[in-house]
Amino acid sequence: MAKQDYYEVLGVSKSASKSEIKKAYRKMAIKYHPDKNPDDKTAEEKFKLAAEAYEVLSDDNKKARYDQYGHAAFEGAQGGGGFGGMNMEDIFSQFGDIFGGGFGGGFGGFGGGGGRTARVKGSNMRIRVKLTLEEIANGVEKKVKVRRKVKADGVEYKTCPTCNGSGQEIRISNTILGRMQTATTCSTCGGAGEVISNRPSGADSQGLVVKEETVSISIPAGVSEGVQLKVGGKGNEAPGRNSVSGDLLVLIEEIEHETLKREGNNIHYDLYISYSDAVLGVSKEIQTVTGKVKIKIDAGTQSGKILRLKGKGLPSLERYGNGDFLIHINVWTPQELTKEQRQFFENMVDDENFNPSPNKSDKSFFDKVKDMFS
Ligand SMILES: [Zn+2]
Repeated sequence: MAKQDYYEVLGVSKSASKSEIKKAYRKMAIKYHPDKNPDDKTAEEKFKLAAEAYEVLSDDNKKARYDQYGHAAFEGAQGGGGFGGMNMEDIFSQFGDIFGGGFGGGFGGFGGGGGRTARVKGSNMRIRVKLTLEEIANGVEKKVKVRRKVKADGVEYKTCPTCNGSGQEIRISNTILGRMQTATTCSTCGGAGEVISNRPSGADSQGLVVKEETVSISIPAGVSEGVQLKVGGKGNEAPGRNSVSGDLLVLIEEIEHETLKREGNNIHYDLYISYSDAVLGVSKEIQTVTGKVKIKIDAGTQSGKILRLKGKGLPSLERYGNGDFLIHINVWTPQELTKEQRQFFENMVDDENFNPSPNKSDKSFFDKVKDMFS
């Protein structure tokens, strides 16, 4: 089953601007909003798909990947489910501001129909944090600005008069078997056990306002693209005296390094050395992710040799030791020669010392690769 093209989903052209994309999404979201289409599965699917399309097309990075690879760009992301795994809570917490104040919440109660008398928990929020390889190697403290819902100053809640705080309405009926007691979710408070008693101006129907806050996130060394960290209690607050805040979910993204390539916890680096350095041997200072390291390249080093700096790669998130830093030696062959240099090499054409003669102890390329991953 082919997945619908994200541009088609939102009804925009590939050259649509950011604001056109946002406008188109807003239109779709309002049209298929669950409040407007209660119990309509098709509308719900369309609502979710539009959010998924917007999630990708509103993000420059994701959009570029999508434009290049289509849906395949996200296969395997987020636990194999791609972006299909977005649930309603995610959509509201992520794009809630796009709906303005007109939706959500409902009136009177705020239990969300859970039918529990347990404490109400605020919705989770999601953010992305981009990290350099150096930040990943050393761990980093990141300060991010989030816009979260918090209880408005002066908001007051009181115990629900209908259910007395239990969140349930008990009905007693007489049947031929005797008195029967049935419990249903309280229709006044929606199961929360509390209702709003003082709503300050500017607060929504639940007594919440949106506030920008700076949250400090301590990111451990060794994270990788797609890892999700949780900052407890830094999501949206929920209404009510006993409610607890949702969590802030932090999705890690890696910024590609200019010269270093990550492979698991190992790091690969291409080092170019001159022809004469390869012949005569040389010392080089290498910038690893944690600092500078001096290495010695022996006289007569072959191009393609891999030097392994044990433990100089990335630390493992699970703390089972560091990866290695692998230096791939590339001998730079001169492309322009003076007359004298040319003469020198011409003289060497049949020279025994210049003839390749790999001996048995030299590893073949495939052995080296095998070795590298062991
Ligand atoms: Zn109630």
